[in-house]
Order: sequence, then C-alpha cells, then structure tokens
Amino acid sequence: GDINGNILPEKAENGSCKKDADKMDLAEQSLLNKLIRRSLVRNRNQVEVLQRDPTSPLYSVKTFEELRLKPELLKGVYDLGFNRPSKIQENALPMMLAQPPQNLIAQSQSGTGKTAAFSLAMLSHVDTANKWTQCLCISPTYELALQIGQVIEQMGKFYADVKLAYAIRGNKVERGIKLQEQIVIGTPGTVLDWCTKYKLIDPKKITMFVLDEADVMIATQGHRDQSIRIHRMLNKDCQMLLFSATFEESVWRFAEQVVPDPNIIRLKREEETLDTIKQFYVVCKEKEDKFTALCNLYGSLTIAQAMIFCHTRKMASWLTAHLTKEGHQVALLSGEMTVEQRASVIERFRQGKEKVLVTTNVCSRGIDVEQVSLVVNFDLPVDMDGNADNETYLHRIGRTGRFGRRGFAVNMVDSKHSMDIINQIEMHFNRRITKLDTDNLEEME
Ligand code: ADP
Repeated sequence: GDINGNILPEKAENGSCKKDADKMDLAEQSLLNKLIRRSLVRNRNQVEVLQRDPTSPLYSVKTFEELRLKPELLKGVYDLGFNRPSKIQENALPMMLAQPPQNLIAQSQSGTGKTAAFSLAMLSHVDTANKWTQCLCISPTYELALQIGQVIEQMGKFYADVKLAYAIRGNKVERGIKLQEQIVIGTPGTVLDWCTKYKLIDPKKITMFVLDEADVMIATQGHRDQSIRIHRMLNKDCQMLLFSATFEESVWRFAEQVVPDPNIIRLKREEETLDTIKQFYVVCKEKEDKFTALCNLYGSLTIAQAMIFCHTRKMASWLTAHLTKEGHQVALLSGEMTVEQRASVIERFRQGKEKVLVTTNVCSRGIDVEQVSLVVNFDLPVDMDGNADNETYLHRIGRTGRFGRRGFAVNMVDSKHSMDIINQIEMHFNRRITKLDTDNLEEME
C-alpha cells in the first residue's frame, strides 16, 4: 500500500487533496502503532460487556493466576513483564477460556491488550497431544501477522510443545502433507490456499478461529471475501473471536456475519479535549515570515518537546532543512520513509534524542507522543474545500486529560483565509485562540 497517501504537494498546498491523505493505508498505521508501542494505553473508561446469555454469571479476573493457566504459559506471561490483566483482558480472557467455548467480538483502540489476549487464548486452547492445526488466526497483512506471531512465540517460549506456522506469502510448503503446527497465523489469501489448494490444514479440525483487525480487513474487498470463505469452511461449533480497533456500522455487520451468538466487549476511547491547552495564533506574511516566527519561538519549543505540522511533504522538508541550517536539531517524519524508518524516528523522538519533530498530518495520524507540550500548526488543518478541519485540529493538539497535562498550541496565520479558519476553529470548540507576538513572548509564560 501507499504509506502516506502521497499528497501531491502542488495540489495539497491549496488544500484540495485531503482525500488522498485519508487513504493512508490503515494496515500501515496499525503496524506503526505496534512498532512504537511499548506499554498499554491508559484508558479510564468503563469496559462495556454484553453477554450472549445475560443470566449467566459474568466472570472477570484481576490476576493471571485466576485463569488457571498451564505453569509454562503463566511463566511466559510474567516473562513479558505483564503483572495483571489489562482492562479488556479482565473480561475477555475468562470468556475466551470458558468451557463450553464462547464466541467473542471485542473492540478497543490499539494498545489496550487485544493481541496479547487472543495470543494467550490460542496458546491455552491448544491440545499438545494433537499434532494438527487447531487454532487459526488471520490478519490483514504479512507484517501484522509476523507481529502477532512474535507475541505468541514470546509468550509461549516456555511451552515447547506448542508449534506455530506462518501462512504468509513466500512461505514455501509441500502440497498435501498436513501441518503438525497447532497454531497457524496468516493472511487470508495464503490461509485460503493452504486450506483448499494445498490441503495443509483441515478447516474442519480448527476449534478456535481468530480474526484480528477486522476494520482493516474489510477495508479491502478481497480480504473481506477471503475471510468469509475461510469462515464458511469451519465447523459451526468452532470458537469464533473477532477483534477491531474501531467499530463503524460496516465492521459491525461483518462481525455479526462471522461471529454467531457473540459476547461483546467494548472499551471506548478516551475523549480528547482542548480544556488544558492554551491556544495562540501568530500573524505572518509568508513562509519565510513563519520561519522567523518559529525561530523566535524555538527556545520555548525545546523546553519540553514540540511537534510542528505542515500541510505537505514539500513544506515539511523545506522547514526541516531551514531549521537544520540554523543549527537546530530537528527530526522529520516524512511520507517517503518506510514504516520501519518512521517507527525509528518516533522512537528517537520519544527518547528525547530530538526535541522537535516536523511532520505532515498524514504521517503522524494516530500516534500519540505523551511528552509533547507544544504543537505548532505551521499550516492550519483544512479539509478538501479549504474549510477548517476541526477534527484534525483536535487530534493534533487535544489531550485525553490524563494527568491533567497542560500544553500550548501555536497557529501560524498567513492570510485572511487562514484567519477565517482560526475563527471557525474558535467558534467550533468555543475556546479562545489568543494573538501572540513572537517578539514578545510573555503571554506564553
Ligand atoms: P492491541 O492488540 O490492543 O493493540 P497489545 O496486545 O499489542 O494491544 O498490547 C499493547 C502493549 O501492551 C504491548 O506492548 C503489550 O506487550 C503490552 N501489554 C499487553 N497486555 C499487557 C498486560 N496485561 N500488562 C502489561 N502490558 C501489556
């Protein structure tokens, strides 16, 4: 897929090309999140649980011991540094491990412990005496499948009898000889081939089926159809588990098709707010002028850490080059980088190796760097019609209110049009955006 939506600078400069940006590959974004995630995302919302049978008792666990896992698995869990189940794991794990088996649809934002949960469920489900594939997990891309496999391998590292195979492109296999690996993880196309053309897996012997990243999966028609075809080959009493980071209507319809009689677990994202953010605007003439204003701000930028948003790649690299020429240390997150390169830039920034990160909206969507206390909109966020893009504005500078962290936002205004946008944003959020004189920065104190 195309990593960044490849906004054409010329078009995007006048704000008419956001549609391309929106096409930013969902799978790439999900992978980026996985690569940069080091710990659980904090979320203070309540988990919502909808039981298939509301009269049966609702089990939740506060410790991994309560799950009565095999000692080898419990050891693997603790070895990963997990002390207690995450919010969604508290409910999802007992459901996934229950006898008789129960189906589950679970939705929560990335980083809340879904992958770890179903990895543990699969490992726990396997009967090691049986040398055939019992757990099948499908994921939208090769890279995402590998990421899941890594979790299973780490968690299962003391449980030597469980074996894992990857049904991904390029994995050479012999036709007709059934796999002995109890867990298979792969992409829909290859899994389908392995079940039908190559007959390596007997779908009737699968007793646990996991579909991860359902929202990403159905974004591609081919994947959606293949998933349904795989699902149709399974036994009716195979345990079905489906996970998604988001839950639009389309995901929901798909989930209901794949998972009959489900239990449902949801954890809503924490709302973003501008309440703890002081917002300013600076009036400039053109980009050189904005650059000067930015340099005047630079001292305040580097007190903590700052992110600077530009509308296009071209502008982002222009700005980075100029800041660097002035002797500043800045990192650039840019569209032409591979997802691994972007992950490493974000990682360095998180570690504080660079204090300032220049980026376009497309590149940084969905990433959350907690220590950023100042956001500069070098270009204001606009939609395809050139109107204020309030949602993007909120994503850039909003905070989830965790720890009541305070922050600053500075908006560069370079035309009457961009002044109108500031006014639209003020109106929309009903929050004041104050004029700032960068020659006199006392207001920011
Ligand atoms: P998701 O699949 O929802 O994106 P992951 O399962 O990948 O979430 O978990 C996100 C991060 O949190 C990973 O780095 C993972 O190792 C870690 N993690 C998962 N469960 C726990 C837990 N119970 N305790 C501590 N860390 C956890």
